Amino acid sequence: MNRTGVLIVISGFSGAGKGTLMKRLMECYDNYALSISMTTRAPRPGEENGVHYFFVDKETFEKTIAEDGLIEYASYCGNYYGTPRAYVENCLSEGKDVILEIEIQGACKIREKYPDAVLVFVTPPDGAELEKRLSGRGTETDEVIRTRLQRAIEEAEGIENYDYIVVNDELDRCMEDIHAIVRAAGCRMKESVSRIESISDELSSYLKGEKE
Ligand code: ADP
Ligand code: 5GP
Repeated sequence: MNRTGVLIVISGFSGAGKGTLMKRLMECYDNYALSISMTTRAPRPGEENGVHYFFVDKETFEKTIAEDGLIEYASYCGNYYGTPRAYVENCLSEGKDVILEIEIQGACKIREKYPDAVLVFVTPPDGAELEKRLSGRGTETDEVIRTRLQRAIEEAEGIENYDYIVVNDELDRCMEDIHAIVRAAGCRMKESVSRIESISDELSSYLKGEKE
């Protein structure tokens, strides 16, 4: 029986380990489709267009918004980020569990448009570890790191929008927590109620046949 996939939003402070966790999740399980976002931010060393992001200029991004090509978008630390519509809708209808790794404003928009989406917030064990991971990554200037830490303080205020908080201390344990949340979401009543109806119909026909 065909099921629609679960839409999962993963958010968390910059440097919490979202990207690392998603990579691990994709390596370990094959039920996931990871949406590739569009952004106006410049690629970091090693980032590839069409793999990590679709890197575009502001004009192209705004044209895509006007064409309704994004299911959500937001401005984060001076750049646009958005989720292309077609990939998400196609994968969900094929029964894939689709992951959006997006920040908090985008997560709120997804909640409005897709009330069944599962919102997960990834946190490091403490602030010192966050600062260490963000600087240790070595991809941002000190100024950008400060902006992102400031943004983390603002994002902490929106935490009540999320269904789950997972602590990324030990990577694989955290990845398994996320996988368990998605599996549980796939067993929710409304995802499977049609199966029960069809079993009930099947049994009715069987019993009717026996009587005749
Ligand atoms: P985000 O995508 O949330 O901004 P990254 O996935 O880029 O974060 O991770 C930031 C840094 O923290 C990277 O250098 C990564 O290797 C490291 N990291 C991620 N998860 C862990 C973990 N569980 N323990 C230690 N370091 C981690
Ligand atoms: P980074 O520049 O570190 O790759 O991403 C910065 C922030 O933008 C992260 O919090 C990331 O989750 C978020 N982000 C990435 N893609 C999207 C998107 O498509 N939409 C929204 N709203 N946020 C995104």
